[in-house]
Amino acid sequence: MHISQDHIAELRTTLKGRVIRPQDADYHQARAVFYGGIDRRPALIAAVADASDVAQVIRLARANGLELAVRGGGHSVAGHSASDGGIVLDLRAMKALTIEHERRSAWAEAGLTAGEYTAAVGAHGLATGFGDTASVGIGGITLGGGIGYLVRKYGLTIDSLLAAEIVTADGELRRVDPQHEPKLFWAIRGGGGNFGVVTRFHFRLHPVECVVGGMLLLPATPSVIAGLVAQAEAAPEELSMIANVMMPAPPLPFVPVEQQGRPVVLVLMAYAGDSEAGQRAIAPFRALATPIADLLRPLRYSELFPPQEEGYHPLAVGQTLFMDTFDHGQAEAILEHLRTATAKLAVIQVRVLGGAVARVPVEATAFAHRQRRMMVNVAAQYERPDEAAHYAAWTANVAAQLRQGDAAYVNFLGDEGPARVRDAYPGATWERLQAIKRLYDPTNLFRRNHNIPPAPGDARV
Ligand code: FAD
Repeated sequence: MHISQDHIAELRTTLKGRVIRPQDADYHQARAVFYGGIDRRPALIAAVADASDVAQVIRLARANGLELAVRGGGHSVAGHSASDGGIVLDLRAMKALTIEHERRSAWAEAGLTAGEYTAAVGAHGLATGFGDTASVGIGGITLGGGIGYLVRKYGLTIDSLLAAEIVTADGELRRVDPQHEPKLFWAIRGGGGNFGVVTRFHFRLHPVECVVGGMLLLPATPSVIAGLVAQAEAAPEELSMIANVMMPAPPLPFVPVEQQGRPVVLVLMAYAGDSEAGQRAIAPFRALATPIADLLRPLRYSELFPPQEEGYHPLAVGQTLFMDTFDHGQAEAILEHLRTATAKLAVIQVRVLGGAVARVPVEATAFAHRQRRMMVNVAAQYERPDEAAHYAAWTANVAAQLRQGDAAYVNFLGDEGPARVRDAYPGATWERLQAIKRLYDPTNLFRRNHNIPPAPGDARV
């Protein structure tokens, strides 16, 4: 269906936020998302100002059968926050943040990015764990789980989610927490944008002023890669590590010329605790090889989230998988895949889980992979849009060889079809999510996402 000019005019008079149409000067800037190669043209972008604006846009989309895309930080790997011909509900103007010092918690509007939130609460020596990138929106990352620098110490982002306010498909603003609409609260902790538009999140704040961490660049050899994973598993859970095995070495000023063009491991880590204990915890990582660059140091937690280059829109594809065992043979295989890769940049990223993530019972939230030991992402960046299929096939092939069982982290899932969405929500998690979807979104208004259709087998009801 198409949106009529009358509807656009009505929205323009009643919305507190802005309605951006194709003829407006900032339309192209407003429709752009993080990844390059996603070039969708919505009929309008509703840059909402508050929950009542959100409700109004939801009602309009529902009454007119229009596609509704929800946009926070715009980092969806699958391009879900863009739409061709539909409405983009853009939350970026909603950035209010209230810190409740006594309760050690914060109410954050859904238009904030992880970097904005982290800088604001970091000024008070506090943190909630998101991912590794400042520009990712708190909305998307939280609703899919959230795996970052504090994951082993404080769990997934959803493990610090105390409550939320959400506008459901009927246009109602609901508060969800363990006492209010607990089923819906369960579903939004991992189930993505399937259940409504979250306008505010209530997060627990943790006392994280300084960490020991940053970046360590090591030569990529099988023993270094396997050693990193083994050390990260053995480390105290204050330490969380992301190992990016990449080819070629990044063209950074401190990378010596002789390393350029060779595979390296860019290790990102944080020890959230006492500085001396942190230095002891990172020592075994430094000892794995003579570092190409060692930028590990005590720093403020928010310094791990430097602001990003404006206008950076990489062309990239990725594949998500989980592993439980990682040995020298797998490290060799990873290196071999990277040595023969033809991508502009090929990365196999390993994030060691465990700790606080694994202590939460699997059925407590809709994130079903808590017992897995490592989350792995195989990614390729390329130069021309017509190379997409080639590199999608490369990442799929590498992932198929590394994968230990069918499982996917929904936040790293591309547009890979319904079977892969099921891999994000195995067994009982899927059935429970589907039943809750039937309760709150029986017509599948919220379908521009990794979709959980309300009825079995129904992709679009
Ligand atoms: P958007 O594209 O704006 O949103 C994605 C989808 O989430 C929307 O289509 C919608 O369905 C839903 N959504 C977003 N906000 C709302 C809301 N308020 N209410 C309802 N639905 C909503 N993930 C990690 O866990 N850890 C990482 O370290 C990490 N690093 C990343 C780094 C990069 C460079 C990128 C591109 C992604 C990374 N991710 C990471 C994945 C990231 O969590 C997902 O891409 C996430 O969906 C992005 O959220 P967003 O708000 O920026 O995206």
